Amino acid sequence: MSLIVQKFGGSSVADADRVRNVARIITDTYRAGNSVVVVLSAQGDTTDDLLAKAAEVTSRAPKREMDMLLSAGEQMSIALCAMAIDQMGYPVISLTGWQAGMKTDASHGVARINRISPERITRELDKRKIVLVAGFQGINRYDDITTLGRGGSDTSAVALAAALRADLCQIYTDVDGIYTADPRCVKGARKLEEITFDEMLELASLGAQVLHNRSVEMAKRYNVNLEVLSSFSEQPGTKVKEVVKTMEKNHVSGVAKDKNVARIALIGLRNQPGIAFKIFSLLAKHNINVDIILQSIGREDTKDISFTVARGDAEEAAAIMEENKEVVGCQRVELNTEVAKVSIVGAGMANNAGVACKMFEALYSAGININMISTSEIKVSVLVDEREADRAVQAVHDRFFSEFGGRV
Ligand code: ADP
Ligand code: ASP
Ligand code: MG
Repeated sequence: MSLIVQKFGGSSVADADRVRNVARIITDTYRAGNSVVVVLSAQGDTTDDLLAKAAEVTSRAPKREMDMLLSAGEQMSIALCAMAIDQMGYPVISLTGWQAGMKTDASHGVARINRISPERITRELDKRKIVLVAGFQGINRYDDITTLGRGGSDTSAVALAAALRADLCQIYTDVDGIYTADPRCVKGARKLEEITFDEMLELASLGAQVLHNRSVEMAKRYNVNLEVLSSFSEQPGTKVKEVVKTMEKNHVSGVAKDKNVARIALIGLRNQPGIAFKIFSLLAKHNINVDIILQSIGREDTKDISFTVARGDAEEAAAIMEENKEVVGCQRVELNTEVAKVSIVGAGMANNAGVACKMFEALYSAGININMISTSEIKVSVLVDEREADRAVQAVHDRFFSEFGGRV
């Protein structure tokens, strides 16, 4: 008998028919003799709808109350699904995050799971019950409800799989696996049979929302046997693991796009030591993460520095720079929120000099201008104008994946 954790995303439980479909998948797994723990997301657009409801009341909702509101979406799903499973004649119980022992830190809206006390879940499993757990939520040391950040139910599932030492963690979604690019936007995207934790972590962090990046981080740390598959079809999914069969010869495994970026340019900075330190310590003091940084070669006594931040931080970052123009010796601050980051990811890329060049050539052939570049051992990212982002992803994907019938 195996212990299996299954997670179903919002579109998989969007209405009564889909809830019944999910109940069938869960009970099939149970009937085959497995212990089953299930994590559910809120139905369809429920989380967005709850955010809109809060915005109707106030533009400055306290974070604690926002978590109280948002966590309700997942609770609806587990109750409805438990009803469907009960109707089919199987023993089932639904548990909120706190009932399931999901202990988090105190950061409302972006809480991290510190520890799971799975005793209640284990007791219910011992009674041969199917256990449904509300995703995306936990409880902090003040006994207040917290949420883990958008897409966080994946992380709830992987954390439970690690804590319960599950044999398998299945993430059911609306596509039948992880593709070389978002299959809804990119023509010719191909399903990967398997992908490494490191590559998936990069893809998730660079905009491929198919898995929450912290879920991949955790799966790697605890070596969780992880798989992504569809609740709408019976196709085999994609395995995410430490080492994959084809790793050596492949350089690029996927292309990702992230529109959640903005660029700030500081023009005419004094060309002297300590300026970069001043700029980035000001941002760090306000908890603003910086991603790509570009510094021009100094011209006589001035230089420019540009950097990217998440769009949600852009206004604040620009305002901080504007306020401190004198301190950092800057003549002009420019903010551009109409940019996007396009990235290629692949293990083994570092040892192949031609990979970045091939990406740049694809963009050049498509007439797309690159604003900024950043590279690491496992990825190359470029910043382009937002309105060109989809074309850029398609051009780069075509270049790497259409000629050779597989990963290049
Ligand atoms: P869920 O509600 O099940 O958590 P999400 O919407 O969070 O589902 O994630 C699934 C979506 O991720 C897919 O519908 C797809 O559009 C998108 N996606 C982005 N990049 C990829 C990729 N490389 N492979 C598969 N899906 C991707
Ligand atoms: N319901 C939450 C969201 O929409 C969490 C999740 O679906 O994973 O972000
Ligand atoms: Mg998701």
